Amino acid sequence: MSRKHIGVIYTGGTIGMAMTPQGYAPMPDFVSVLSRLLGQHGDMLPRHSLYAYDDPIDSTNATPQDWQRLGRDIAARYGDHDGFVVLHGTDTMAYTASALSFMLQGLRKPVIVTGSQVPLAAPRSDAAQNLITALQLAASDAISEVAICFHGRLLRGNRSTKVSASRMEAFDTPCYPHLAEIGIEPRLNASALLARPARENFQLPDYDDALILPLRFVPGMPMRAVEALLALKPRAVILECYGSGNAPDRDPALLRMLAHASAEGTVLAARSQCLHGEVHIGTYAAGAGMTAAGVVGARDMSFEAVFTKLHHLFALGLTPEEVRGALVRDVCGEVS
Ligand code: ASP
Repeated sequence: MSRKHIGVIYTGGTIGMAMTPQGYAPMPDFVSVLSRLLGQHGDMLPRHSLYAYDDPIDSTNATPQDWQRLGRDIAARYGDHDGFVVLHGTDTMAYTASALSFMLQGLRKPVIVTGSQVPLAAPRSDAAQNLITALQLAASDAISEVAICFHGRLLRGNRSTKVSASRMEAFDTPCYPHLAEIGIEPRLNASALLARPARENFQLPDYDDALILPLRFVPGMPMRAVEALLALKPRAVILECYGSGNAPDRDPALLRMLAHASAEGTVLAARSQCLHGEVHIGTYAAGAGMTAAGVVGARDMSFEAVFTKLHHLFALGLTPEEVRGALVRDVCGEVS
């Protein structure tokens, strides 16, 4: 069997950073450090080609246009590779992985996103482990989806969230089983992986800066704050509700404002502030009025998946009504 050929795309992040007087920033000669590391293992690793962005970023600066560039770069090189590894900052990795999953629909090869908590060139770095594991998984015939590989876990990209800023286990998928646990050998969880689709159906629309805003309910939130946010006429608002999708109802002004915003074409999606569990609007009387106000429950989707899916659906040119319907229809394993 011929050796698999993996495309490794470096976009930035801690993995390629070094300490400067201003704090961590992308190091100038990261590509040579990376090539040396991968070269040490010779034929034991899959064959790979390195594509380094010449403007690596801290992923806190990533925008929907960066997701789009990456999606299009993978699509353009898709035929030349058996899989991809994307090196990315951890802060918005879950957003990028989610967005990639919506762009690369029908994916038939692995796209493994990884990075590190400690730079590759620093002592006690987790970068080499993450990178080499990602490279091996990107050569697997069993994986045909966008996944995050981090500290011995393989996670569905559009179910992932960054759960720790200090532990090496930076990511988890609170509402979905891990796709693999990687000990001495990777143990794939076959029943959790997406089946390989018959054909690719990539959707690479132009992403714009559609105003999609979060609104997190907090005890005693002043209604004028909600009013000010809705006055911006956002394309969508992700309501971060309590528990199973509950919102305060003692002041009728909230539901009135939400109903008005919906009628004006703002898509309102309800998520839970809890890490685990599904939104069921109407479980409690407080919050039951949200359905009538046009709010769509985002079920067990991660915040990152809801946010990037909304961007994707708007970029495809769907109307608000179509977005409301499409939001909770499963595309690539993001919703149960
Ligand atoms: N701020 C960094 C980034 O997201 C953090 C990291 O990579 O761990 O690019």
